[in-house]
Amino acid sequence: MNALEVRDLAFAYGARRALDGVGFSLPAGRFTALLGPNGAGKSTLIALLTRLYDLQQGEIEVGGCSLRRQPRLALRQLGVVFQQSTLDLDLSVEQNLRYHAALHGLPRSVASARIDQELLRQQLHERRHDKVRALNGGHRRRLEIARALLHQPRLLLLDEASVGLDPAARQALNQHVRKLCRDDGLAVLWTTHLLDEVGDQDALLVLDRGRLVAQGETAAICAPHAGSLAHAFDHLTGLGACA
Ligand code: ADP
Ligand code: MG
Repeated sequence: MNALEVRDLAFAYGARRALDGVGFSLPAGRFTALLGPNGAGKSTLIALLTRLYDLQQGEIEVGGCSLRRQPRLALRQLGVVFQQSTLDLDLSVEQNLRYHAALHGLPRSVASARIDQELLRQQLHERRHDKVRALNGGHRRRLEIARALLHQPRLLLLDEASVGLDPAARQALNQHVRKLCRDDGLAVLWTTHLLDEVGDQDALLVLDRGRLVAQGETAAICAPHAGSLAHAFDHLTGLGACA
């Protein structure tokens, strides 16, 4: 079963169309990059997938559960890292996680075990009592990933998670998420406007002005453009590439 199915999604802010005729599926356990320039509709899509906005048109299923008809079952299967950080800077690393575990209704003993496990996996265990304010940008993002995985979703959504990090931290975060995907069979939707965060082996969705202008394997999308993602992106979006 696919981790995510999106069919004929459209969304408008008043008269302004932000998404139109968007349809795709994400296989289980695969890293999928959603590439699009600023204003393409990436965050609007994430807001619809997480039910921050109500659906206007189209269908979304997470792990076979309809977001319209079985919202609790659907939402339970996804974790999200939003574009803007939603951490409480004055709480400790562990307190941020505890709060989220409580929101998900995890019993205290289960929450403690999962928090331990996630902090180890995200290499944040020794920082557990530090206030989030004391963490650098890369660590804060890893904490948000830990939090998004506490309830063991099958699909992780990340909206421009690397924005604001320096190039080394950006690549480290990208590699880290790819490893989670490989090791845990987690499906990942990684949105970005940066070409160097997309790999040849990734599944790729290219969004431009609210429409999916390409979907498939990165290598196949690049093949008609001499194998260059920059050229493919230029051609598909009519924009200069952001390397
Ligand atoms: P991206 O995340 O790819 O940069 P967004 O989903 O934020 O794109 O925006 C898609 C389009 O919708 C843009 O044209 C943007 O200006 C518009 N938009 C986004 N949020 C709002 C809003 N709250 N009200 C009106 N228009 C919006
Ligand atoms: Mg955005």
